[in-house]
Amino acid sequence: MTVQHDILAGVPTDLWIGGAWRTASDAARFDVEDPATQKTVATVASATVADCLAAVDAASEAFKPWAALTPRARGEILRRAYELMVQEGERLARIITLENGKSLVDARGEVAYAAEFFRWNAEEAVRSNGQYSHAPASGARILVSHKPAGVALLITPWNFPAAMATRKIGPALAAGCTVVLKPASATPLTMLALMPILEKAGVPAGVVNVVPSRASGAVVDAMLADMRVRVVSFTGSTEVGRDILKSAAHNVVRPAMELGGNAPFIVFDDADVDAAVEGAMIAKMRNMGEACTAANRFYVQSKVHDEFAAKMAARMAALKVGNGLDEGVTVGPLVNASTLKKVASLVDDAVSRGATVLTGGRASEGIGYFYPPTVLTNVPANSAVVTEEIFGPVAAIQKFTSEDEVVSQANSSEFGLASYIYTRDIGKGLRVAEQLEAGMVGLNRGLVSDPAAPFGGVKQSGLGREGGHEGLLEFLETQYVSVNW
Ligand code: NAP
Repeated sequence: MTVQHDILAGVPTDLWIGGAWRTASDAARFDVEDPATQKTVATVASATVADCLAAVDAASEAFKPWAALTPRARGEILRRAYELMVQEGERLARIITLENGKSLVDARGEVAYAAEFFRWNAEEAVRSNGQYSHAPASGARILVSHKPAGVALLITPWNFPAAMATRKIGPALAAGCTVVLKPASATPLTMLALMPILEKAGVPAGVVNVVPSRASGAVVDAMLADMRVRVVSFTGSTEVGRDILKSAAHNVVRPAMELGGNAPFIVFDDADVDAAVEGAMIAKMRNMGEACTAANRFYVQSKVHDEFAAKMAARMAALKVGNGLDEGVTVGPLVNASTLKKVASLVDDAVSRGATVLTGGRASEGIGYFYPPTVLTNVPANSAVVTEEIFGPVAAIQKFTSEDEVVSQANSSEFGLASYIYTRDIGKGLRVAEQLEAGMVGLNRGLVSDPAAPFGGVKQSGLGREGGHEGLLEFLETQYVSVNW
């Protein structure tokens, strides 16, 4: 049996290469687990190096005809993909919850967000504008145009099994590239379920290939060693991102890297505290904290500190923890045993250094990787819960007094992805935003992700941007022709 759960009826579990399903060349398969029940829900084919190179063959063969389609034709296929994905939204949300654990509320939100990358890029496909100008000295004409970069290798994490993939597939296809996608081994089913949808939307064979694999390092290295792969777009941890950059260096493959974060969430004395708590709940609890944009370090100014902490603890304690498939549940299990262990050890470390637990703080015993929503105060700045990415439902609050102090604390991280500021003084908010070393700032907002905006980080949070117009440019090469008229 390759699928063992009703939700997965009809979901393919093999490799999608050149528009056909095939088993791995060595017949290897791996288990996919439901984090709420710890039961195996499917076994999926595990691609070998040979399979992945066959996927590169298919993508390479499909590249010229796909790139030759008019931008409008590519856009219309993406638009159909958006519509079909929305139609299939509930089924896809259930698949996401089953393999990732997140609540159905979060999963439905993810599907809507993920589909939006197809709609946005359907519109971007026709906006690859060039430039025409006079060379100031020589009198030549400068013609600048953009061309699809070629075959793109896309590598995605488990925390948003649909959105992290469509955020790459959408712009790649809009640009005229073809792709080989390696999903995370914990959550390969969502992407496999999406392939019949893309086929129905009119995506030709070989334009999108999906190769789940337990041998991620070996297969990614082999594909990066193939000269036909011209772009590698990776979302995942900074640690793995560094290794991929090293492998990409050999053939000078163009990298786009969306890596880890450690977002500061700053609440000034003049903030609307209730709005700040509302924003904090979104920034912290979307996806149970398993988001690269998740608020990780809460800095609250002294006058509102106690009120904010008490209100946040009350909201966190009121959340319903349980199997994400049950309606009404807002917090599902973490994705696996190692994530649960890490979150528990970060909290234990902070408590051993003197942090106070306002709510939560202890993993539940029994089946499933559940950790309760937790709020800590008096958290020492050198605790691991502050310096590391938590990736769980834990809010670690510190008190601050001055603007300069909080800017310096917020910037004292090797990461620079998202950050959040709450203040009623918009001038101060923008002044602080400019000083923050972060690719994205939420000013009086707890959510920065938007398909129409450039998503990405500075410092060790990554290179390049996804979404907005910048997302398309990651898959285009610029060519300039100097013309003697
Ligand atoms: P991960 O362990 O880095 O894995 C990400 C992907 O890389 C998976 O497909 C994984 O495959 C693959 N991989 C693992 N080792 C590899 C290797 N040596 N060579 C090539 N590929 C390899 O990250 P994760 O645990 O799935 O995701 C959590 C991380 O992603 C967090 O740090 C989070 O901040 C980051 N993230 C960043 C963004 C962003 O936009 N900046 C968005 C979401 C998540 P296997 O699953 O088969 O190991």
